[in-house]
Amino acid sequence: MQDDIRDGLSGRELIAGGGITYDDFIILPGHIDFHHQEVELGVQVTRRIRLNLPFVSSPMDTVTEHKMAIGLACLGGIGVIHYNNSVDAQAEEVRKVKRFENGFITDPVVLGPDAQLADLDRIKERYGFSGIPITEDGTQRGRLIGIVTNRDIEFEPDRTRRLREVMTADLVTGRAGLTLKEANELLRRSKKGKLPIVDEQGRLVSLVSRRDLLKRRNFPETVKDPKQRLRVGAAVSTRDEDRERVTALVEAGVDLVVIDSAQGDSIYELRMLEWIKRSAPHIDVVAGNVVTRAQSLRLLDAGADALRIGMGPGSICTTQGTMAVGRAQATAVYQTASVARARGVPVIADGGISQIGHIAKALALGASAVMMGYMFAGTEESPGDYFYEGGVRLKRYRGMASLEAMAVGGDKRYQTRADDRKVKVAQGVAGSVLDKGPLNDYVPYLVQGLRQSLQDMGVKSVTALHAGLEDGSLRFEMRSLAAQIEGGVHGLHSYKDSGIGMRSG
Ligand code: GDP
Ligand code: GDP
Ligand code: 5GP
Repeated sequence: MQDDIRDGLSGRELIAGGGITYDDFIILPGHIDFHHQEVELGVQVTRRIRLNLPFVSSPMDTVTEHKMAIGLACLGGIGVIHYNNSVDAQAEEVRKVKRFENGFITDPVVLGPDAQLADLDRIKERYGFSGIPITEDGTQRGRLIGIVTNRDIEFEPDRTRRLREVMTADLVTGRAGLTLKEANELLRRSKKGKLPIVDEQGRLVSLVSRRDLLKRRNFPETVKDPKQRLRVGAAVSTRDEDRERVTALVEAGVDLVVIDSAQGDSIYELRMLEWIKRSAPHIDVVAGNVVTRAQSLRLLDAGADALRIGMGPGSICTTQGTMAVGRAQATAVYQTASVARARGVPVIADGGISQIGHIAKALALGASAVMMGYMFAGTEESPGDYFYEGGVRLKRYRGMASLEAMAVGGDKRYQTRADDRKVKVAQGVAGSVLDKGPLNDYVPYLVQGLRQSLQDMGVKSVTALHAGLEDGSLRFEMRSLAAQIEGGVHGLHSYKDSGIGMRSG
């Protein structure tokens, strides 16, 4: 294309003006000669790990535990398990993701034989299902001795009765290792609603539900490791004591470790990074958070396999106000990505994403993936229960540096030494977000929006987007305040926002 008919600015020119954020600029449209379904969203999230979607969920205790990580990996992204928990609890979350097999419930809710019908009623009320395997000792991996389903308890008036009296003990079971197809066949023959799967010692391994077989979806984008297990990440702090955590996570099968620090350019982080690269060289390490080129270079020199970018843009974050340190996110992403790209290392834009357009802009400025807390909080797969406020269905979402989360461990991200913890200065808030429904509905909605966005830019893949940024063919423009107002809904008496729980604007 001739230079003289190019409008707008190159990425470099856009950023030259000073610290800007996603809403400060717009991307100019390109030429479309393909359908949006053809847009390819696969990316390298770290040097060695490829995703089919550029989505990573934040290591926060109201965002990512095994359910989020399983849901995202099935759809093509990856979840990073938070570390506001014990080493064992975090490693168990990783194992739950690694054990997951599509179609098998690998962590079924179970009860012991001495539990009462009333316990089952509570499970039914809380989770909505009532097919409960009974194990000898009442634990998930205990020896299977029976099953209780709705049919066994429906007409029983005495809710204090023990389950051993009502359970069915002569079970049709499947042996661990059988395929979903074989499980399907066994269920068809037994005509039951549930098929418990046991190991050689008769211990419960998983449960198959007829209902799931009927509505089973295919997940062609699932992100798997070479052993065909889902991929998962986990966060650790920069503290020496967390070396034990890293070891436990690696043993549990974690694929990538995120060193979680609000200011990642510290000797503590460099030491942790070098130690992990030395002791577990097969694990990819995401280092951060950083926002400048100099910070990035130090982490790259120490062997980072990806950088996590952002200081202060998070929706729950008060860092920039409290600490007076940070950087506007669009500038941070562009500057860090430009040095990391030269080394072949991806960057992950972390925080400040509250609509599909922000994802597109982060990728357009050189990020290979986006890490999101707000966007995934409030989905069915995020930890915590829904509650109602003023008739609206909500879930809690809190910053890891809110006083509430720091009280249970979140302060490790913000204070590098254990003895620093006496006085706590909050850098985040606790609040709530709207119900966004199940990931299976929500992520396809994000994907469709993102594909259409790239189509409007005239690029067919994230790789092509980055090439356009590099060669200057991708064009940007600053938005004045008036332009931002013009670009949002305006002038209406009232309107209904049809985005799923997203910020409008
Ligand atoms: P039930 O007969 O009342 O247990 O319910 P169904 O089997 O018809 O449906 C239960 C749904 O909940 C299925 O989609 C299961 O995959 C899902 N589910 C998730 N975790 C569990 C669990 O621990 N036990 C059971 N029974 N179902 C679960
Ligand atoms: P429901 O229709 O949701 O109540 O559940 P099922 O079809 O799974 O169970 C129907 C009845 O069969 C219940 O009384 C079960 O306790 C009993 N049952 C007997 N053997 C088995 C077995 O191997 N698996 C299951 N799931 N149920 C069994
Ligand atoms: P969001 O997607 O909600 O805009 O931002 C999520 C990101 O904010 C997280 O991935 C993490 O980097 C950052 N974050 C999480 N909790 C806090 C907090 O309490 N304070 C600050 N400053 N940042 C936080």
